[in-house]
Amino acid sequence: MSFVATRRVGRRVSAVPPATADERAARDETWVRRALDVARGSLSSGDVPVGALVLGPDGAELAAEHNRREALGDPTAHAEVLALRAAAAAVGRWRLDGCTLVVTVEPCAMCAGAIGVARVSRVVFGAWEPRTGAVGSVWDVLRDRRALWRPEVVGGVLAQECAALLTAFFADRRRGLPGWAGPARERDCRGGSAH
Ligand SMILES: [Zn+2]
Repeated sequence: MSFVATRRVGRRVSAVPPATADERAARDETWVRRALDVARGSLSSGDVPVGALVLGPDGAELAAEHNRREALGDPTAHAEVLALRAAAAAVGRWRLDGCTLVVTVEPCAMCAGAIGVARVSRVVFGAWEPRTGAVGSVWDVLRDRRALWRPEVVGGVLAQECAALLTAFFADRRRGLPGWAGPARERDCRGGSAH
């Protein structure tokens, strides 16, 4: 069962234009760099800077969103969820098989669940999130053998650059510098966590 599922995911991934392993790695880095640029959009609202993209099977960018939990006052407004919604709206359907989701930090359990239900075929992320990560760190929601949908996962792409953006944000926040919007934000129970 699990072997079959893995092979099926593999064929879906092959919908991405042919590329060698090196070419795919270089493309993943390009996408993570783009997601890092998108992530900086979170800073104006004091949101933790996390950026996410959804790329179509041909590599075209369908969505680019950053974390807007504070901006929207919405606990589910993580970059990945917003990007999945925008991509689904762009293609006019909820199924995103053949698509790649790129995010600057390892998804949390909510986002990993959303990635699964959206049937995304491939996930690329930057920094590992040892406190809340659900794609290998604390949980492994997407590769759990009981999961009905198991995308290919590539983690740790430009991990240092992605972690550095978060580290700088939390350092500024602790110092009370611009980049976060006030004491209410301190109540985030995980403090230094991306989620
Ligand atoms: Zn999340």
